[in-house]
Amino acid sequence: MNYKDKMDTVIQKIEDARISVSEHHVVKLIAVSKYSTVQEIKAMYNAGQRAFGENKVQDLIVKENELEDFPLEWHFIGHLQKNKIKHLVKANPFLIQSLDNIALALQLDKHLQANQQQVDALLQINSANEITKSGVAPEQALDIYDEISQRCNSINLKGVMSIGAHTDDTKIIQQSFEITHNIYSKINGATICSMGMSHDFELAIKCGSNMVRIGSMLFQD
Ligand SMILES: *Cc1c(COP(=O)(O)O)cnc(C)c1O
Repeated sequence: MNYKDKMDTVIQKIEDARISVSEHHVVKLIAVSKYSTVQEIKAMYNAGQRAFGENKVQDLIVKENELEDFPLEWHFIGHLQKNKIKHLVKANPFLIQSLDNIALALQLDKHLQANQQQVDALLQINSANEITKSGVAPEQALDIYDEISQRCNSINLKGVMSIGAHTDDTKIIQQSFEITHNIYSKINGATICSMGMSHDFELAIKCGSNMVRIGSMLFQD
């Protein structure tokens, strides 16, 4: 299958899932290009895709630079290490989806202020309660969200991000999405609820996700 066909297939599935929620429920697709080459990203661009996600700062920088003539949106979706903050600030991504603790937010804020920059970000929530996953505990999410909003003037929090539970049990995956969406619905002014990957995005949309991050289903055979 070529990229256009892959994209059409994914968009149709997103469309079916979102319509089942509401005609007014709009979902944005982020193509996760972490396993893809610049050539593959160009092919996806030619098929109409504009927003791409990377989980390593270094990869984001390299691909952003190589594709600087293209009007792309870069989303950072990986765990951010402190020693990479200044590089990420320089790359100036469209959205940092994976802010996952206060200390990190404070350091990021400091670098942003020094560079007179602002960034949009999401708070990552570990709704599946898995030790292998980054993210704040659901019970603490609202407090941490408020604290970052108050203390970090250069970070504009736009909502939340989660990775669904790592299991074949649909009920447990659904529960993890519902926990995140419930937190999202309690945040005043939040507009982005980023949940859903290749194997679970339709369920995520049915649980209220309005941003899906899809990699393998778009880029692999
Ligand atoms: C890799 C990744 C994705 C995409 O996963 P696929 O299963 O390939 O669709 C989405 N979100 C995050 C945070 C990722 O690291």
